[in-house]
Amino acid sequence: MRTYNIPIFVPHKGCPFDCVFCNQKRITGEIREVTPDDIREIISSYLKTLPKTDRYIEAAFFGGSFTGIPMDEQSALLSAAHEFLARGEIDGIRLSTRPDYISEEILDNLQKYGVTTIELGVQSMNDEVLKASNRGHTRADVVKAAEMIKRYPFTLGLQMMTGLPLDTFERSVETAREIIALKPAIVRIYPTLTIKDTYLEKLYLSGKYKPQTVDEAVELCKRLLLMFEKNGITVIRIGLQATDEICENGSVVAGPVHSAFRELVESAVYYDKIEKLIKNCAKKCEKGAKKCEKSAKNGTKNAVIAVNPREISKAVGNRRANIIKLKSEENIDLKVTGDASLSKGEVKLVCF
Ligand code: SF4
Repeated sequence: MRTYNIPIFVPHKGCPFDCVFCNQKRITGEIREVTPDDIREIISSYLKTLPKTDRYIEAAFFGGSFTGIPMDEQSALLSAAHEFLARGEIDGIRLSTRPDYISEEILDNLQKYGVTTIELGVQSMNDEVLKASNRGHTRADVVKAAEMIKRYPFTLGLQMMTGLPLDTFERSVETAREIIALKPAIVRIYPTLTIKDTYLEKLYLSGKYKPQTVDEAVELCKRLLLMFEKNGITVIRIGLQATDEICENGSVVAGPVHSAFRELVESAVYYDKIEKLIKNCAKKCEKGAKKCEKSAKNGTKNAVIAVNPREISKAVGNRRANIIKLKSEENIDLKVTGDASLSKGEVKLVCF
């Protein structure tokens, strides 16, 4: 069964915060408020493009702080989406919000309108990083909100950012550890992008903020992805944040932008697995195991690995990055083949 999200962007016009990476203040007034009729129109038109069977559809309210808008407006918007839920035309409603905009009164109301998933913009579990990012909430707010949400039958999602001001590799890893301890079902990882007309842009232009490079962000996100997966938490997104808290029409001034960022991260995970497999095999050879004859020609070694056929492009890497890296670092010519018996992420050494 395939899952579909019907995205509904709800800009939080009255947002009293001023997160350093957000350009919402600048565009306030440029975006028309979403009305219940807009929601009916968005969901109806989207449904026409989706299959009628074998699908799970959620209306997804993005915008960062849905539960910060006045309760009667929340109810009006949710009520419009709930009409589709009541008719069985969609299967759930999801939304994203801030950790300090969660209370029992809010959660009771969300439950009343059939909300299924709540995602919290955590961004960091380090109070210094949160303060430097002007988030306006603390680590303790995140813990309190996550625990409160888990007392309800909602699916909990947590979103974190990397490369925020004062953030480091270790602090991001620690944030991931603390997120894991809160046991969310899903996680999103967003490397920080410097958007035009934000305070972060000023910091960047004055040399007080150094954005992550693509390579740094990939290396860190690789570690985070493995941590979450090891703990049974599904990472539903890594990379560009197009319609969430950073508004769509902000242009990126600096930061780890790549249109296939998640694929870069997953390819880096494959590279490590392939390299480890080959090195382990080479060690066994040194200990006296029979060496593959193909491996000795002209000092260049040949390796053939198999992965699930759907994962071949990730194992090969963006623009054959893994093939090129293995050749330049280990002098190994790598061939990647498909094997349908292998599951996603599994790598088998066929010949080395
Ligand atoms: S990121 Fe969200 S909470 Fe922060 S200023 Fe923008 S809209 Fe407000």
